Amino acid sequence: MKFNTKTIHGGQHNVDPAYGSVMPPIYQTSTYSQSTPGGHKGFEYSRSGNPTRAALERAFASLENGEFGLAFGSGLAAIDAVVKLLKPGDEVVSTNDLYGGSYRLFTQIYEDFGIKFHFIGMENAFRIEDFVNEKTKLIWVETPTNPMMNIIDIKAAAAIAKKHNVLLAVDNTFATPYLQRPLDLGADIVMHSATKYLGGHSDVVMGALVVRDKELADRLYFIQNASGAVCGPQDSFLMLRGIKTLHVRMQRHCENGKRVAEYLQNHLKIEKVYWPGFETHPNHEIAKAQMDDFGGMISFVTKGNDYDEAIRIVEKLKIFTLAESLGGVESLSGHPASMTHASIPREEREKTGVVDALIRLSVGIEDADDLIADLEQAIGG
Ligand SMILES: *Cc1c(COP(=O)(O)O)cnc(C)c1O
Repeated sequence: MKFNTKTIHGGQHNVDPAYGSVMPPIYQTSTYSQSTPGGHKGFEYSRSGNPTRAALERAFASLENGEFGLAFGSGLAAIDAVVKLLKPGDEVVSTNDLYGGSYRLFTQIYEDFGIKFHFIGMENAFRIEDFVNEKTKLIWVETPTNPMMNIIDIKAAAAIAKKHNVLLAVDNTFATPYLQRPLDLGADIVMHSATKYLGGHSDVVMGALVVRDKELADRLYFIQNASGAVCGPQDSFLMLRGIKTLHVRMQRHCENGKRVAEYLQNHLKIEKVYWPGFETHPNHEIAKAQMDDFGGMISFVTKGNDYDEAIRIVEKLKIFTLAESLGGVESLSGHPASMTHASIPREEREKTGVVDALIRLSVGIEDADDLIADLEQAIGG
């Protein structure tokens, strides 16, 4: 089955043997009747399993060319389950330019449990090997990164992971499986904040993991059930509904992203635009090799790097809503220095490129002419 068919049908055959409903029913139930102890029809208790969630988990697995999908109450709950595979004394090599919430979970919760994290620049993926030792159990990669749109070579990271018998997990939130399928490139675990592009309508918070290996799936399922950070049936239904249009939404996100990136690139008041589709992007060739297109996430800096001017621009934008999050049908803007990255000291954030005037855009699927006109009136001539 090709990807555009999978978004609609992947893992979704015969979801309702009772009435043949085309969409999986919302099984809004916590428990299931048993004819005799243990005599159930495949579901006992909705933390352990729920038919609506099971349909979604099959859909996740199908999209990522995996075998097993797991759905969680948020992206961070999914990451939390991956870290719970580890034990005190274990080490993790992680990209340094990663989602702030992942960084907070790693450093403020799991470092206290005796897990050591090495945060390194991975634009040259071969650097990873310098930080791998016999205690290393996990390599954590996010690509493209947030908000600098760095690209990390998943195949190169996978080769290092295989050589040292370490798990490679890829946060595929920004790219989505429409653009990039990390399991095909050698990763062991794919993670999503399904809150973003997979759901696509800014109405659900959810996380996902997909793997191929049965033993790894069993361990993650044990953690999912034992820790209990599952999502509910209503949210599972909304996610299934969102996924059905992932391919058409992503196609438009990419088209609009290209238009907006090129518009900004040619604007006299703009200093720099970060978007992997430009040939001048330092890892453009890797992006071209591992992604099918370049997506709708763009960051840019205005000339003079003026903090107040950046704030003025995001306040003046009308169609781009100033808000946290990304990946919905509507365009959003964000100012990392005062929003997502405000807790990082200026010197630290500037080292990775998060300067005062950096603005991040999640380009939605509105008409590109309207988006460009909105940027024009906000940035000025
Ligand atoms: C939002 C996000 C997360 C966290 O997901 P939640 O659903 O908000 O818990 C993780 N990684 C990336 C890249 C994200 O954008």
